[in-house]
Amino acid sequence: MHSLLLEPAYNKPVAVEPAFLALISAQPDLTEPGNVLLNSVAQTSLALAATRSRIKKAALLVECLRGLGPEEIRIGVSYLSGHLPQGKIGLGYSLLQKSMSAPAGEATLSLAETDRRLTDIAGISGTGSQAKRSHLLGELLACATEQEQTFLQHLILGELRQGALEGLMIEAIAKASEQPLKAVRKAAMLSGDLPLVADRAMREGAAGLSQFRFEMFRPLQPMLAQPAEDPADALAQLGEGVFEYKLDGARVQVHKLGDDVRVFTRQLNEVTHSVPELVEQVRLLPAEQLVLDGEAIAFDKQGRPLPFQITMKRFGRRLKVDEMRDKLPLSARFFDCLFVDGDDLIDQSLTTRLGQLDDIVIPALRVPRVVAADQEATRDFLRQALQAGHEGIMAKAPDSLYEAGNRGANWLKIKPVHTLDLVVLAAEWGSGRRRGKLSNLHLGARDPRDNTFVMLGKTFKGLTDKMLEWQTDALLQREIGREGHIVHVRPELVVEVAFNELQASQQYPGGMALRFARVKRYRQDKTAADADTIDTVRAIFEQGFAGVSR
Ligand code: AMP
Repeated sequence: MHSLLLEPAYNKPVAVEPAFLALISAQPDLTEPGNVLLNSVAQTSLALAATRSRIKKAALLVECLRGLGPEEIRIGVSYLSGHLPQGKIGLGYSLLQKSMSAPAGEATLSLAETDRRLTDIAGISGTGSQAKRSHLLGELLACATEQEQTFLQHLILGELRQGALEGLMIEAIAKASEQPLKAVRKAAMLSGDLPLVADRAMREGAAGLSQFRFEMFRPLQPMLAQPAEDPADALAQLGEGVFEYKLDGARVQVHKLGDDVRVFTRQLNEVTHSVPELVEQVRLLPAEQLVLDGEAIAFDKQGRPLPFQITMKRFGRRLKVDEMRDKLPLSARFFDCLFVDGDDLIDQSLTTRLGQLDDIVIPALRVPRVVAADQEATRDFLRQALQAGHEGIMAKAPDSLYEAGNRGANWLKIKPVHTLDLVVLAAEWGSGRRRGKLSNLHLGARDPRDNTFVMLGKTFKGLTDKMLEWQTDALLQREIGREGHIVHVRPELVVEVAFNELQASQQYPGGMALRFARVKRYRQDKTAADADTIDTVRAIFEQGFAGVSR
């Protein structure tokens, strides 16, 4: 039995051996296009996970792409992006474990053959389908070497961690196909299908890429935001910024062609029929063709925003739309304009797009906005947004283009700071100026069910020299074991930690991780039994992340 799912190489970066890189470069099937073995892709994936260097990652991808034959491009790009071309094929962890067989000694399985067999598995339905899937999967795995088996398992479970690949893959496709980066990026944005873009770019060049056009009623992936700590942090990153209220509603992309108006969610599902009032509002706008990006949100009678969970009631299944519309009317607040009367604006600056938005959309249907470069003004603006009941503010780079699907640094979200009292579970020895001091703290919340602690993240921020001195001593007195540079301690010390956001995490056992955590002070008045519980943390998380639809 092989239980390779937790093979560390896929979970955390390790140093790449130069000899290993040389080995990859020496793969004959990578230099001769066509008939690529699964092994080559699996090795490239391993090498990608093993290096943090963007340049090395890009070089590995280009090399691998260049080796692919025409029929293999889509499969290879899919695999290297961590997806199966067949999508989710109903194979879970336990079925994979059940289907495991002894690995093949030699790598002979081709990429095309692997894909063919997975297509067969995906096509199975009806009674006894689990057993049939397991059988076919067993046959496939029996042809795979140990390394290939691990790769396939991670791929099938959607757990390949090779490090932020999409941007790199776009660069690699441009290089390998000798097409301009801008053209490949735009095609990727318009199609949302990188394997297809790679296929067209590499087989047909510029002509292939020019087939990807903006089309009405085919929604674009929405541009996403990264968190920033506070307005000062956002200004430090952007210089001058466009600041907007951040509304806690549902993202909508609205397409208008004459009287035909259709509304799409963040997941690109069409919800036109659930939101007739949005359709009516947009139908009145003075443009024949229009695509707007914004937020749909319900307000109470006083005009204060209702919580996200309430707004989302309008997007449920099988709604009595008219009844719901009377009880819980929705409003649209737009913040971007992507297409107007034949002009595709995604390659235009935010400032230009906002100019168009202001020309077409009345102020009542736009999010409040200021352009600011000084801290005082942006702090005031954040205060106003919070007072009006909103979630925070956004800060955007005025000259940035619309990066569909990307969570980049051109859009920053700023939410108010929360604090939690957490327990120190371990600490790492510091380096540089902090050498000899225990510095990076591992923090956990209490699980009241069994009095254990659930780790939520680490931080060394906010610690003064005096605190470092004190905690090194206090932690060493509580030492219960060491693991490399980590000192594990009895969970007794409580620290007050400020953070801006909780994000979903596969790395930590509670499924959540703190963002921008910093220590405010040690709570010497508290014991671990008084620390915040994982239930409190989960409640905060659910407030901020209650739906997948945002
Ligand atoms: P988050 O869901 O926390 O990653 O924040 C990004 C989301 O905030 C976007 O997907 C939008 O749904 C929402 N949002 C609210 N107001 C704005 C705004 N002014 N600009 C962009 N996104 C906004």
